[in-house]
Amino acid sequence: MNVAVLGEILPGEHRVALIPASIPKLEKLGCEVTVVSGAGVPSHFSDDEYREAGATIAPDVSATVHGAGVVLKVQAPTDEEIVALPEGVVFISLLSPLTEPELIGRLGAAKVTAFALELIPRITRAQSMDVLSSQATVAGYKAVLTGADELAKFLPMFMTAAGTIRPGKVLVLGAGVAGLQAIATARRLGAKVEAFDVRPAVREQIESLGATFLETQEEVAGEGEGGYAKELSEEQHQRELELIAAHIADTDLVITTAQIPGRPAPRLITEEMVDTMHPGSVIVDLAANSGGNCAVTREGETVVRNGVKVMGPANLPAEIPMHASQMFSKNVETLLKELVAEGELLLDFEDEIVAGTCVTHGGEVLHGPTKKKLG
Ligand code: NAD
Repeated sequence: MNVAVLGEILPGEHRVALIPASIPKLEKLGCEVTVVSGAGVPSHFSDDEYREAGATIAPDVSATVHGAGVVLKVQAPTDEEIVALPEGVVFISLLSPLTEPELIGRLGAAKVTAFALELIPRITRAQSMDVLSSQATVAGYKAVLTGADELAKFLPMFMTAAGTIRPGKVLVLGAGVAGLQAIATARRLGAKVEAFDVRPAVREQIESLGATFLETQEEVAGEGEGGYAKELSEEQHQRELELIAAHIADTDLVITTAQIPGRPAPRLITEEMVDTMHPGSVIVDLAANSGGNCAVTREGETVVRNGVKVMGPANLPAEIPMHASQMFSKNVETLLKELVAEGELLLDFEDEIVAGTCVTHGGEVLHGPTKKKLG
């Protein structure tokens, strides 16, 4: 069976879905790999490296997907790509299934069997397929570096002949995968770090990284299904806003990562709170593409308000493309081990991973329990 790898078209998307090191692993599953020419170039994997690893290089999309059983991409397919896909092919990528029902409908109508990588269930067996986790690790790390680079201050403490510099103060809101990586990175840079999350279970993880978990007088907790958070009541949300307002004014760098799957990001920083911060401070809002945790955030832009830079990066993992692609590729490779045996596709719709992740099959949009909001 042929596995096809497409290139990325979205501006700023420098990742590739499969790197050369994964090709021998797919060959062991009985697969041959065809890669569209140049697909790996933005992440610094050349066509020659793919060839040396055993892949065939094809000149364009239609030659790449011709006769393929599986097609891989990082971002969702364009309409032109959907038209080029062979009927019945398995297509695997990020698909934003909870917010892009029309795209899912088009994939269904094209009789593509589409897998949305966002829906990989959060179970131990699927951990090494979990693209959201691997890419959130990259985003959390890069958010701190990006923010530190924009700061008018140091993060580490310095004791020099020119005087003593106090360590910078970092506040991390949301301590899931990205937030915990942001805490670890800020600590490595020598910052004093405070953090808050609505899932009380993460307190211990925050503290074990050397950060302080912010306390509320009355509990603010929103543990949802599958390891995710759920929306807070209005009263709890107000309590959280008061907590943040009490800490943000003397913070140098804020990293926000709070998300609720399929919902707009919770609003945690108001304009008034930004106005209490010192000019030269920075906010990096990792929830920019689901509406932002900060009222000032604009996706893909840096807004300067009274000297405070509010950054809303649209795609931070793509800014560390080699390692982000390496992790993405490993995730996809592990998923393919579930779907392919001896060069044949074996889709077991009773299996939790297949049932949870597959969004279209046989011309239908699938509505499993994890996909009830698909439309
Ligand atoms: P996410 O990206 O959906 O959200 C980021 C964080 O924001 C979460 O920790 C969430 O609790 C927090 N949040 C939501 N609303 C908030 C609010 N109002 N204020 C403050 N924080 C708020 O989540 P994620 O990082 O993808 O993962 C969440 C959890 O799932 C983590 O504990 C992670 O370890 C776990 N997980 C488990 C597996 C597995 O078992 N296979 C895989 C991946 C992640």
